[in-house]
Amino acid sequence: MKYYSTNKQASDASLEEAVIRGLASDKGLYMPYEIKSLPQSFYDEIENFSFQEIAYRVADAFFGEDVPADVLKQIVYDTLNFDAPVVKVKDHIYSLELFHGPTLAFKDVGGRFMARLLGYFIRKEGKRMVNVLVATSGDTGSAVANGFLGVEGIHVYVLYPKGKVSEIQEKQFTTLGQNITAIEVDGSFDDCQALVKNAFMDKELKEHMLLTSANSINVARFLPQAFYYFYAYAQMKKLGKADNLVICVPSGNFGNITAGLFGKMMGLPIKRFVAANNRNDIFYQYLKTGIYLPRPSVATIANAMDVGNPSNFARILDLYKGDYNAIVNDIDGEAYTDEQIRETVQKTFEETGYLLDPHGACGYRALAENLKPDETGVFLETAHPAKFLQTVESIIGMKVAIPEKLQAFMKRKKQSIPLSKDFYAFKSYLMHGSK
Ligand SMILES: *Cc1c(COP(=O)(O)O)cnc(C)c1O
Repeated sequence: MKYYSTNKQASDASLEEAVIRGLASDKGLYMPYEIKSLPQSFYDEIENFSFQEIAYRVADAFFGEDVPADVLKQIVYDTLNFDAPVVKVKDHIYSLELFHGPTLAFKDVGGRFMARLLGYFIRKEGKRMVNVLVATSGDTGSAVANGFLGVEGIHVYVLYPKGKVSEIQEKQFTTLGQNITAIEVDGSFDDCQALVKNAFMDKELKEHMLLTSANSINVARFLPQAFYYFYAYAQMKKLGKADNLVICVPSGNFGNITAGLFGKMMGLPIKRFVAANNRNDIFYQYLKTGIYLPRPSVATIANAMDVGNPSNFARILDLYKGDYNAIVNDIDGEAYTDEQIRETVQKTFEETGYLLDPHGACGYRALAENLKPDETGVFLETAHPAKFLQTVESIIGMKVAIPEKLQAFMKRKKQSIPLSKDFYAFKSYLMHGSK
């Protein structure tokens, strides 16, 4: 399968090139030339398949031309050794829990899949070491670091802002060792991102070492998220609730929902999508006005959605050939303030006993307010509430049990490389290591 750039100014890429480069040379995002439909017989029987079996069929449609069947199957099966169950919250509204992976957030699937696919390409080509740079405000770093842990031929540098991530988040990427290095930058998340961007533009550095990025612009990270939507549909079908299915996605960079839209184009019978925003409501405003106006992000309690210029918007536009009417036909939107998010977490817990995290709360509320009487809704619960411990505990006024997996991280020892936000210090570290 060939991939083109959404900016149409770069040459086409193979899957391998698209995965290793991340972003196209014209700064566009890679898109596959073809989105293959899956046969009706697959949808007829989908409820009888396991998560791994469903995911392999979807992965085969995306990557089957470029990766041998046995290798692809192994990658899918290794990636998905945890479940993503659908849980009923109240009548007509279900939670698809995407927090049963190693770092308890949905980004685990993309991180693990990309690590394994990149690992395969490197082994195949006998390539020199690939270095993955990733700037994080919390969740991406842990998912990517845990996904790549122990993958031969790859070294990961996680850059994070000193003192600005929670202790739980920090422990998830600073305690791993092996091929994972955490760089604690004396600066903000934007400073971290600027260091990564500058590194990609530095000729001398790029001659010295092979660099790639692992955020949701990378096709190997964002496409596997489509697995979730097929599995959600299968589970709803098993419950006899798959007609008029609406899926709601708490969205920041819009990688997750874009993967869902790919699923719909492959024939998955989802009636429509709802994108839930926090106060960073750039997409919501676009749906209302047809005008896309990026602006600097503001901090909210659903911080993984604090994005002021969602990178995957370019993919959505491309998917719908810029047709605004077609976009609003498939996607609706809602947006909530911190106050509304708090209220939703508290009321839902009181009324149903279900504890939402701040991101899932946007998704749940968007369905509660947007669903029509004949529709059934599934929202993606993108992270475990214990990942936002202080916020959630202060809302419900109760202690939240910390899952075993998180506790294990808490007991380990933090190791990080402290650096200033000066690019030359970072470059010198990458080229010569710390002395
Ligand atoms: C990353 C993230 C999101 C937003 O996902 P996008 O693909 O960037 O839209 C939502 N919730 C949580 C918990 C996340 O970590």
